[in-house]
Amino acid sequence: MELKKIQELIEKNNIKPSDCVMHTQRKLENNGRVRVLVLKNETEAHVEYICPKCGHYDYVRKKWKRPFSIKCKNCGELIRIQKMKTLIKKDIKNNY
Ligand SMILES: [Zn+2]
Repeated sequence: MELKKIQELIEKNNIKPSDCVMHTQRKLENNGRVRVLVLKNETEAHVEYICPKCGHYDYVRKKWKRPFSIKCKNCGELIRIQKMKTLIKKDIKNNY
């Protein structure tokens, strides 16, 4: 299963990095994934995820705030979006 909804949104609206407050895609355990997009003119984040616990796929809107997390609608697993600094460190660790 792939995350497509946010990708479609970006292509459809020709969203550029400069239009975003936040845009990140994370790999989670057990082939879980989460993608978060926050646009400058919106207060709600676009969130798309595959739950790392139960594999449930969903696309939701949630008010953007730090720290940001969403709950899996199916099993209630809490999916945290870590701070960018932490993410970059992890990225470096995972990719190199
Ligand atoms: Zn779940």
